[in-house]
Amino acid sequence: MPTLDTGHVPASDALFARARAVTPGGVNSPVRAFNAVGGTPRFIREAKGPWLTDVDGNRYVDLICSWGPMLLGHAHPEVQAAVQAAVARGTSYGTPTEPEVELAEAIVRRTPVEEVRFVSSGTEATMSAIRLARGFTGRDVVIKFAGCYHGHVDALLASAGSGLATFAVPGTPGVPASSTELTLVLPYNDRSAVDKAFEEYGDRIACLITEAAPGNMGVVPPADGFNGFLADICRRHGALFISDEVMTGFRASREGAWGLDGRPEGWTPDLMTFGKVMGGGFPAAAFGGRADIMQRLSPVGPVYQAGTLSGNPVATTAGLATLRLATDEVYAHIGAAADTVKSAASEALTAAGVPHVVQSVGTMFSIFLTEQPVADFAGASTTDVAAYAAFFHAMLGRGVYLPPSAYEAWFLSSAHDDEAVDTILAALPDAAQAAAA
Ligand code: PLP
Repeated sequence: MPTLDTGHVPASDALFARARAVTPGGVNSPVRAFNAVGGTPRFIREAKGPWLTDVDGNRYVDLICSWGPMLLGHAHPEVQAAVQAAVARGTSYGTPTEPEVELAEAIVRRTPVEEVRFVSSGTEATMSAIRLARGFTGRDVVIKFAGCYHGHVDALLASAGSGLATFAVPGTPGVPASSTELTLVLPYNDRSAVDKAFEEYGDRIACLITEAAPGNMGVVPPADGFNGFLADICRRHGALFISDEVMTGFRASREGAWGLDGRPEGWTPDLMTFGKVMGGGFPAAAFGGRADIMQRLSPVGPVYQAGTLSGNPVATTAGLATLRLATDEVYAHIGAAADTVKSAASEALTAAGVPHVVQSVGTMFSIFLTEQPVADFAGASTTDVAAYAAFFHAMLGRGVYLPPSAYEAWFLSSAHDDEAVDTILAALPDAAQAAAA
């Protein structure tokens, strides 16, 4: 197959220079900038199905899928038609609309939540869920896990304090210590750390928030029974269990990560957060849960929460069209394509002598360039980032756009057909050799 000349992308280079003059780092979300792998991010002109086309005319198989939302691939004709029809009816009214009701009903049908409230980003969803949990319980302390990302909520941009169950410190300049002094950051998959935190602060803990299956340190499956354990310990202490399914919701499986272990094991989160797939590529997200908790939200309850574009008719129409089309066959197709890519990547890396671990949750997966299975953030941090950068650029040069960071899930879609998968398979052996070099 022809090798793309990745070093020569003059149109992307030119746009990147213009972008850097007017936008910090030239990007509107940091990971897009290629800081972790070096080089020029490709400026994408258009996308169709599994393919991205950059402004230099290079075509790539997309394994980012907008960081999760594009479950059906890009510009799916039925989603596009629904969106075009919605746009023709006007784009925002600031009044209730039918698509909001229909999307809320679709989410309630697929998940254990009884009621939902729409917002415009995953960050808003987790921020609002935590406010609601605090308002409902009358308590202040929040537990999160290191390596789980819940958006850029001040209280959650936190790093562990010096002891196991000591309060956190800000994870970035700009977050005041007062915003993280009620946050506990614990190691993921560590039951004894959770036990200790509840022993010490049980009656002050408003909620524990976790990614239902972490994807933001690479894919790290919850240990058997871990989510059920969290749900149970929260219940015993009167704290709320918030399962963040912004990434996994309607992607890891038809019912998200909860469909993989919650439904079979019989536990239910008190609150859940959603985003990405449910917005069909538009800014839409949601939080939801038990009706008695959700009824504490304004306007029926005292906990304030609002949004000018929340439940936007175009975004909710896109989300609804996406969920309607996200049938069992879609998940089966993505799962099969993921299996093919995982085995081929592992084979290529083994042949090149590159230590690696492939980890999956449903249809989501990632490949850590490290020796041992990864159970937490400390384990994820052992991944060989230099080897990943070489692997990434070799794949990019062969027409495959991987996430430009070693700590991410690889996303496929129902549009990843044989041609797309074959392009990935053809690129892997050389990329594995590049990672070995
Ligand atoms: N929660 C999880 C699990 C996420 O993966 C993300 C984003 O990647 C967020 C929350 C934040 O969502 P957004 O980027 O829409 O604010």
